Amino acid sequence: MLASEPASARAVANADRSFFGHPRGLGMLFMTEMWERFSYYGMRALLVLYLVNALKWDKASAANLYGTYTMLVYLTPLIGGYIADRFIGTHRSLLIGGLIIASGHFVLAFPGMTAFYSGLGLVVIGTGFFKANVSTMVGQLYEKGDTRRDAGFTFFYMGINTGGFLGPIVCGYFAQSDQFGWHWGFAAAGVGMLAGLLMYSLGKNTYLAGIGDAPTAVSRAADATKASIADDASTRNGIIGAVAGAAVAWFLSGSLLGVLVGTIIGAALAITILGTQGEERKRVIALFIVAFFVVFFWAAFEQAGSSMSLFADKFTDLHLGSFAIPSTWMQSVNSLFIIIFAPVFAALWLALGKRKSEPSTPLKMAIGLTFIGLGFLFLVIGGGRADTGIKVSPLWLIGAFLFHTFGELCLSPVGLSYVTRVAPARFASLMMGVWFLANAVANKLAGLLAGYTPLPGEAPATLQTGIGGWVQQMSATNHGFFMIFVVTSFIAAVAMLLCVPLLRRLTRTVNV
Ligand code: GLN
Repeated sequence: MLASEPASARAVANADRSFFGHPRGLGMLFMTEMWERFSYYGMRALLVLYLVNALKWDKASAANLYGTYTMLVYLTPLIGGYIADRFIGTHRSLLIGGLIIASGHFVLAFPGMTAFYSGLGLVVIGTGFFKANVSTMVGQLYEKGDTRRDAGFTFFYMGINTGGFLGPIVCGYFAQSDQFGWHWGFAAAGVGMLAGLLMYSLGKNTYLAGIGDAPTAVSRAADATKASIADDASTRNGIIGAVAGAAVAWFLSGSLLGVLVGTIIGAALAITILGTQGEERKRVIALFIVAFFVVFFWAAFEQAGSSMSLFADKFTDLHLGSFAIPSTWMQSVNSLFIIIFAPVFAALWLALGKRKSEPSTPLKMAIGLTFIGLGFLFLVIGGGRADTGIKVSPLWLIGAFLFHTFGELCLSPVGLSYVTRVAPARFASLMMGVWFLANAVANKLAGLLAGYTPLPGEAPATLQTGIGGWVQQMSATNHGFFMIFVVTSFIAAVAMLLCVPLLRRLTRTVNV
């Protein structure tokens, strides 16, 4: 840029240090994501218990729907990311998404199964437009190489969890209280999302000028030929990948949902890997390897809203004197710990960084996988006591959530930051979508596994074979069921640890 040229709005935002040393837009994005997560986690806290307790669904159907819903919620951001990168920009995408999410929660507030499924569908579509893009906008606040980026993401992550903390408390209170009921809980989630949207719309021009704009005609025309060749190639690659992915998925799973996931994974792989070369391509490959490993983390972690929620409801003594804590509130514990410990971990990374001994991002992730496995050991023990027929102390769940939080802090905020550094700029939102794609697959897996949650007074089921049989045998008791996650997390941790040198080589140009 020439010295006489006025600085672009984006450059001004990048240089801003007026919000605790960060661009002011960070506070805005904190609040916006806080409200969106308020609605998401508020509603998620109700979902399985609503199905099992109010609609009398069996646990496997409930966990299955939970898995499919949470899978789709994390699958659509990939599509939303792509649309934002190519056409409408992250800002407009976020507005559209927020409106659709809010309407979804309001539709859920009406009784009846049509409203129920439509509401879930709207939240899924809306989250597609919203979720990856808000994280990408955080990345856009910082220039390449800006050392404030990780701290920015940690702060943003506290916003996510402030919403994650308040959502279950407020929505759970309405849902599980005698005066109100489940549908009030769902409506409360919608109100939260609307609040966030309103605030964002009022503040965007002031706090986020130049961030999240659509790719303009000017920016496209600047390199029209190159762009159109790239676009054509991208579309062709995407189609090839989608067809190949669909075919493989049909062969492996034989289900429509599987084909949907396969199509998306195939397209994402082809667009990004075929659309890059040299060091960029290596970085994209690294991201896919990391995405594979984090599936094991989230599949364990996401038990929070399903099997751990049922454990809280059915096997935990939640009486505090004469006050019965609503079981949905237990889902706030993780978020509360995140708010407390996020700054501690951020400071720890900084301190280690100063001594030149900060672990690399992939190593942190392997540590994260270890922590989540350790967390489940609490439930292996607590679950074992519950198996004797007593209701156990909530401390078992709280201990598990504490270690899950440590794990999450080693893997999730650093993961978001990793994506924004490793992804080639033109695929920024798409690759953020890939990060959430790993969540999507994990959530489905989490739901399938949670379908085996042991519940009080159940008749033993007929025995399956293969992995299903092993899971089923383990799930005869709480002790065994939670052990599944100890085993899978530890295996994934060791495997990831072995891949750290390779991953570091693949990303050596960005030093993560
Ligand atoms: N709790 C974080 C969020 O809601 C991470 C969740 C996830 O990636 N599964 O964004």
